[in-house]
Amino acid sequence: MKYPFIKTSLPGPKSKELLEKDKKFVSPSYTRPYPLTVRKAHGMLVEDMDGNIFLDFAGGIAVNITGHTHPKVVEAIKKQCEELIHMSGTDFYYPLQVILAEKLAQIIPIKNEKKIFFGNSGTEAVEAAIKLARYYTKKPGIIAFYGSFHGRTLGSLSLTASKAIHRKNMAPFLPNVFHAPYAYCYRCLFGKEINNCQLECLSFIKDFLFSKVAPPDDIAAIIVEPIQGEGGYNVPPEKFMKGLNEIAKENEILLIIDEVQSGMGRTGKWFAYEHFDIEPDIVTMAKGIASGLPLGVCASRADIMIWEPGAHASTFGGNPVSCAAALATIDLLENGLISNAKEMGEYLLSKLHELQKDHPLIGDIRGKGLMVGVELVKNRETKEKAEEERDKIVYRCFEKGLIILGAGENSIRFSPPLIIKKEEIDAGLEIFEKVLSDVEKEEKYK
Ligand code: PLP
Repeated sequence: MKYPFIKTSLPGPKSKELLEKDKKFVSPSYTRPYPLTVRKAHGMLVEDMDGNIFLDFAGGIAVNITGHTHPKVVEAIKKQCEELIHMSGTDFYYPLQVILAEKLAQIIPIKNEKKIFFGNSGTEAVEAAIKLARYYTKKPGIIAFYGSFHGRTLGSLSLTASKAIHRKNMAPFLPNVFHAPYAYCYRCLFGKEINNCQLECLSFIKDFLFSKVAPPDDIAAIIVEPIQGEGGYNVPPEKFMKGLNEIAKENEILLIIDEVQSGMGRTGKWFAYEHFDIEPDIVTMAKGIASGLPLGVCASRADIMIWEPGAHASTFGGNPVSCAAALATIDLLENGLISNAKEMGEYLLSKLHELQKDHPLIGDIRGKGLMVGVELVKNRETKEKAEEERDKIVYRCFEKGLIILGAGENSIRFSPPLIIKKEEIDAGLEIFEKVLSDVEKEEKYK
C-alpha cells in the first residue's frame, strides 16, 4: 500500500491557517485529539488541507460505514437533491420516509409489528426513546449504566455517565434517572471474574435500586448500549444482557437498546444486541445509518408507539436526502458489508492478540466485528490505566498517517469503515505497532 502518505510536518501550513480561524470563530467545546483538517475523503482515505493522506480507522466517530463518499451513496444523494430536499415530514408525507420505515421494520429484529420515528442524530433518537417510554408507561423513571454515552442534549445527557466533563456545570438533569454498574468485566466493580461472578452488577439493580430508591413500578425503561462505545468499547457477557432482559420483563419495564454506535452492521450483525438472546422494546440508531448524513431513528414495537399527533416531532427529522442515503447504505450493508465487518473484525482481533504478546501496554482486547477496543495499562497485574500513553499513541498514529480515536479513559477504539480490507488492516496495525513500541521504549515498559 502506498498510503498513508504524509509529506508535511503536521499540521501543515494550510491546516495551520484553518486551525487559527477555527480557534477564533468556532466553539471550543469540541474534543479534538489532534489537528486533523479534512479537505476531502474517499473510501478508506482522508486528505488534509496540505495534501497529506491518512488511513481512516475511525470513520468520523464510527459513522462512515460505507467508506467516504461511496459512489452509490453519492449517486443516491445527488439524485434526491435534484428532486426534493425538504418538505417537513412532521406536517407532510413523502415516499422515501415511508420506504425507509418499511425497510427498517424488516431488518430490526423486534417482535411483531414495528413503528419508526425519525430525528436527525443519536441524541434525538434517545430523546424520542425516553419520551416514548414515559408516554407509553406513564411512569417517570429510567435506569441507565455507568460508562454509558447516550448523547449530550439534556434528556440524554441525564442518562450519559461516561465522563464527568460532559455534565460539568450542566445540572439540573432529568429527575428519576438511576445508574447501575455495567458489566465492564475487565474492571469488575465487585472484584469478580466473568466465570465466577453471580452478576453482582445486576443484583445491584434488584437489591439496591429497586428495593431502596427506585421502585420498579415507577420505572419506565432501562436503557443500555449492547456494547459500550464512548465508555471504552466494553463488551458485556451474554449472561448480563440476558439477565437485564429478564429484569425488564419481570418488572414490566421497557428495554431500550441504544444501537447508535454499535448498530447498522458494525459488529457483523445488523444490531449488536443480536449477539445476545434478548428482546428489546425500543431500539435507537444513528451514526452509520445514512453514511454520514444526519439521521436518527427510534424504532419500537407498534403497540408501544401509540403517541397522538403533536406528542413528538422534528422539523428536519428523516429528511428525504438522508433517507435516500440510508436506503443506499442499507443496500450496501445487505450486499456484503455486514459479512465483511464480521470477517475483517475477526482478522483485526486476531492480529491485535498477536501484538499483545509483545506489547505489555496492551491490557485488554475486546470487540465484535469492526467495533474493537484496546485497553492500555501501565502494568498488567495492577491494571493501572495508561491514560497519557493512550493519548500519546493516538497522537503519534496521526503523525504517521493513521486516524484512530480514544474511548473511555485509556482505551483505543478501532471503528473503521466496513469496507476495510486485510491489507488496510495490516497497514494500519504496522503504524500502531511502531508507535506502541516507541512509547513503550520511552516509558521503559520493556
Ligand atoms: N448513543 C450512543 C451509544 C452514542 O455512541 C452516541 C454518540 O456517540 C449517541 C447516542 C449520541 O449521538 P449523537 O452524537 O449523534 O447525538
